[in-house]
Amino acid sequence: MPDTGVPRPGPTAPTGTAGQGGTPGQGGGSWAGAAGRLSGLGVSQGRAAGPVMRLAGPPELPAPRAVTDPGAEAATVAKALAAVAAELNRRAMAAGGEAAEILEALAMIAEDPVLLEEAERLTGAGHDAAHALDAAFARHREALAALGGHLAERAADLDDLRHRAVASALGLPMPGLPSPGHPYVLVATDLSPADTAGLGPDVLALVTERGGPTSHTVILARGRGLPAVVACGGVMDLDDGTVIGVDGGTGEIAIGLTELETAEVARAETARRTLLGTSRGPGRTADGHPVKLLLNIGSAADLRPAGTEAGLAGVGAEGVGLFRTEFLFLDRKRAPSFEEQVGAYAEVFEQAESVVVRTLDAGTDKPLPFLGLPAEQNPALGVRGLRVDRLLPGVLDTQLDAIAAAARDTGTRPWVMAPMVTTAEEAAGFARRARARGIEQVGVMVEVPAAALRAGRLLREVDFLSIGTNDLAQYTFAADRQHPALADLLDPRQPALLELIALCARAGREAGKPVGVCGEAAGDPLIAPLLVGLGVTSLSMAPVCVPAVREALAGLTHEECGHRARTALG
Ligand code: PEP
Ligand code: MG
Repeated sequence: MPDTGVPRPGPTAPTGTAGQGGTPGQGGGSWAGAAGRLSGLGVSQGRAAGPVMRLAGPPELPAPRAVTDPGAEAATVAKALAAVAAELNRRAMAAGGEAAEILEALAMIAEDPVLLEEAERLTGAGHDAAHALDAAFARHREALAALGGHLAERAADLDDLRHRAVASALGLPMPGLPSPGHPYVLVATDLSPADTAGLGPDVLALVTERGGPTSHTVILARGRGLPAVVACGGVMDLDDGTVIGVDGGTGEIAIGLTELETAEVARAETARRTLLGTSRGPGRTADGHPVKLLLNIGSAADLRPAGTEAGLAGVGAEGVGLFRTEFLFLDRKRAPSFEEQVGAYAEVFEQAESVVVRTLDAGTDKPLPFLGLPAEQNPALGVRGLRVDRLLPGVLDTQLDAIAAAARDTGTRPWVMAPMVTTAEEAAGFARRARARGIEQVGVMVEVPAAALRAGRLLREVDFLSIGTNDLAQYTFAADRQHPALADLLDPRQPALLELIALCARAGREAGKPVGVCGEAAGDPLIAPLLVGLGVTSLSMAPVCVPAVREALAGLTHEECGHRARTALG
């Protein structure tokens, strides 16, 4: 970690907020009676306590068993398939909408009599239930793949059904998110953004064994205000049901909390949130220099902080600085229609007057299966973000049409920007297509060093820049943003990253155009003043981060922010 003279307890640990005293991230007692401890990287502030439920992976097939009662094996097969169908139907009811249709269709495959007959036939031929199911699914898969086209696409779905059925026949928990019927702390080796987006309200906190501080899983957790710890070695060894305390600020995990301690964590966390919730007003340094505080969201639902209907005003933000539209469509096998897109964008525009929409940023850890992009050897350096337009130009055109239509329907004037822009030519091409649809404020994200180095040239083509520090750090330091061992290279105080941000801010000042930061660094109260000192004009972050950043800025003059920036650069 570079020595920049700026203290840093953890990627998102909040500082004490001016006028409030104390350290809001630290409420809830010391967990002195804990039977054991683990530690990882705290990446989404807040504390929670509750029983562990682990995310089960695909079951491993044991060696085949000698079968003495084929009838009993056939009954196990039938029971396992029925259990899979029942679980998917239950999830469909809970999910509603398009997700429900997909889950119901999967449940129907599990209930397919041809599959059942094949598996039963195999038990009759001497296979145990788990192997009979495994072989029956393999044949079903081959048959579907041979049909080609749309049906062949469904072949991959069969793998998930196979894992579920085999697990059930072996008496193991089914893979996928647990649903124990009570609140729990979700523990996993790793979580995909799609898993995280699908978490129900019964998840109290997330702890993963792998993962880096700026992965999209973390971003989704933070957006939902869920305490989260990543890179926590040994956490998967905990048994389901073990009560743990999670501190998403310090990364500390306390094992074996008592009922009293668990209740105290919940009480202190509610008090902390209430305290931070009272912070209001536009972003300003102590001497009144304005810095817009904006929100990063993935859908309209993120504009309603958990448990309230307070909307944007809930945290007193001045608009949406990053609407990650791809989060609406993660895991989707079918492309969202134009109408569906218009509806989803309009829902956000109706709630927030000022919105910066980012066009789809697919690729690497945010796969959008409906795009059908070819597998790549090095996806982070491949066709992602705006580059998808090189292979599938219709996708961006439809999205820009939908954004423009939603703007007309709602009478709003959203700003629109593209992710992963590298050259001025790309910026110019994007701006031309957006402006042709009546979009007035067009920008690009700076996530690639080449774009930062040419910020002034980019600003001749577009109206604003938004610096994505998560990717800019990844590409500047050649350090995978999901890699738990490289967190120090991804630290936003690294001088090389700060130099690139300073370059962009200077170019913005010279052009008289706004340059904001919308990566996770913007939501860190220790880093935000430094970014302001470098000259950025807005900070966009998860709603939960706004109060602490507002208070951090309010405690320093603009010159003091500048001093911090110069120290860090030096
Ligand atoms: C970034 O890279 O900093 C950014 C804001 O985009 P995302 O995290 O969605 O890649
Ligand atoms: Mg990015």
